[in-house]
Amino acid sequence: MIVQRNMALTNLNTLGIAAKASYFAEVTSLDALATLLADTKLASLPRLVLGGGSNIVLQQDFAGLVVKIALRGVQCEALGESRLLRVAAGENWDALVKSCLQQGWYGLENLISIPGSVGAAPIQNIGAYGVELSDVLVAVSGWDLRENCLRRLSASDCELSYRSSIFKTHLLDQFIVTEVELKLSHSPSPNIRYQALADALPSGVDVTPELVAETVARLRASKLPDFRLEPNAGSFFKNPIIEASNAAELQAEHPQLVSWPMPDGRVKLAAAWLVDQCGWKGQRVDGVGVHPRQAIVLVNYEHCSGGNVLALAAAIQEAVSQRFGVALEIEPRIY
Ligand SMILES: Cc1cc2nc3c(=O)[nH]c(=O)nc-3n(C[C@H](O)[C@H](O)[C@H](O)COP(=O)(O)OP(=O)(O)OC[C@H]3O[C@@H](n4cnc5c(N)ncnc54)[C@H](O)[C@@H]3O)c2cc1C
Repeated sequence: MIVQRNMALTNLNTLGIAAKASYFAEVTSLDALATLLADTKLASLPRLVLGGGSNIVLQQDFAGLVVKIALRGVQCEALGESRLLRVAAGENWDALVKSCLQQGWYGLENLISIPGSVGAAPIQNIGAYGVELSDVLVAVSGWDLRENCLRRLSASDCELSYRSSIFKTHLLDQFIVTEVELKLSHSPSPNIRYQALADALPSGVDVTPELVAETVARLRASKLPDFRLEPNAGSFFKNPIIEASNAAELQAEHPQLVSWPMPDGRVKLAAAWLVDQCGWKGQRVDGVGVHPRQAIVLVNYEHCSGGNVLALAAAIQEAVSQRFGVALEIEPRIY
């Protein structure tokens, strides 16, 4: 395996930040991963495990080893009406969703068009249009860096929650995902509980998983900028979750507040609405801006440094905190 020095990461992160990695290796097999991790010189360096680079912010050059996960392969096992898929971490998520639809394996259609790799999907429990990875996840396998061995975690071991998992908490930087197991269904059961999706479906037609996927893809294309043209990392802020009593006070003060009740009684607020109300939509500062159609997407128009991106994010957080008393948390991981 080739370990490259001073590797440019500009094309390996969707924010298009021009940073370099001191060391870079692309891993295409479990053996290669084990060999790389056993290298004593590299083992002492900070490590960044990279998928598609669609959920990271590089503040500066990465003075360590970037491990690009390029493991490939999909295996499918029939279990009655269900299908158990074992998908290697380096597979592209969106390509997987489309291929599953073509084969008549259902459950992923609402998660179409999310950039990135399969291995990163459990890290923040990707979600969109009323479905989260947790709805279909069976298990995650990978390299446990604490015990230096391969390990399989069941879905419940992964402690998935809204945009979070054990990989962002107790196992932060301690687990390299190599394979994800998903349980899909061979019989269609479209999930259209998300109101904006239900509203966008044509009336008077049968709702099929294919139609759901097509509609979600269309909605996303109309709302989210293409990172290849306008470099971005998707939602830059998580939707804040607050206590119901605080939400009621805010709602009384701001009747237009956009929010959703959570199963645990708390309330999730629309970060986009909060940012928009503070007048940030469409604003640009030092080559970085807030997208004119989507207030929680920051666009790195001029391939600026991560510092510029984070400075804009901090200004937005401050404005939202001042106006609503709500703390906005940054969604992508900052390196
Ligand atoms: C236009 C756009 C739209 C988006 N829409 C959504 C959306 O609707 N819903 C949503 O949830 N997200 C969305 N995202 C965010 C992003 O696509 C997802 O979080 C995706 O899962 C990140 O995958 P990645 O391979 O690019 O991860 P990367 O950016 O490469 O990595 C993200 C984090 O995961 C870690 N990681 C990656 N691979 C592994 C691995 N194999 N093992 C251990 N750790 C790993 C990295 O170290 C890093 O901390 C969007 C992003 C963009 C740019």
